[in-house]
Amino acid sequence: MQIRRFFVEDIKETSASARIAGAEFTHLKKVLRLAAGDTAAVFNGRGLELTGVIESIGRDSAEVRITGRAEGVKESPVEIALLQGALKGDKPEFIVQKATELGIKEVCFYTTGRTVPELKGSGKEKRLGRAAIEAAKQCGRPVLPRVRVTDYKDAISGYTDFFKLILWEGAETGLKEALRDADAKKIAVLVGPEGGFSAEDVELARLSGFKVASLGARILRAETAAMAILSILQYELGDLN
Ligand code: SAH
Repeated sequence: MQIRRFFVEDIKETSASARIAGAEFTHLKKVLRLAAGDTAAVFNGRGLELTGVIESIGRDSAEVRITGRAEGVKESPVEIALLQGALKGDKPEFIVQKATELGIKEVCFYTTGRTVPELKGSGKEKRLGRAAIEAAKQCGRPVLPRVRVTDYKDAISGYTDFFKLILWEGAETGLKEALRDADAKKIAVLVGPEGGFSAEDVELARLSGFKVASLGARILRAETAAMAILSILQYELGDLN
């Protein structure tokens, strides 16, 4: 049975013990019903993962005695940032979950004047953070992707040393052509919101150094386009191959 992994942000390489509390403790006690003596791993979301044995389970936390260091799943050699237009409902959580599983380093949600839902507000950002933790626990990754929410102009003005790509259904250039000479180690890929990009949005991105590429003749939902491009980029340049 796969060793159970828990997110504990403040562990260090030299930690002799770790405290599992909050939502992670609820998962350990109520869902997994682990007991003292069971093995457990703890990871800090920044690449450190330690193995241990549950020493005690209290009312609202569990103590783990650290017994060693775990390798944890290796990170992809390519750093991919997904810049995703705001989406309705729980689609943002879906995007964060799949991006975490696919080894993405950052998900930057952006709002434009025309995007529907507001992603700001502690509740939503907290839920997005939780989605990343749950996905990292499940897929074995000791690194959490960075998840942030900003506006369009701010999103496209960053990533200066990245290979930049905007996916647009109106583009003449196909993806294979657009990636032909990209041996980049850092890629920022821009996917539109539910309603798609305005011509100005595309032009702004182009002026900011984004290459425009098409994903073929069919119009994909934003979440389909995002999953497709992340998988293609990890296959072509990363570790999905
Ligand atoms: N304009 C679409 C809605 C946008 S789809 C419509 O009329 O329904 C959401 C986003 O997915 C787009 O902004 C684009 O970034 C991406 N996308 C969808 N289909 C695409 C395609 N065939 N080529 C490139 N990007 C695509």
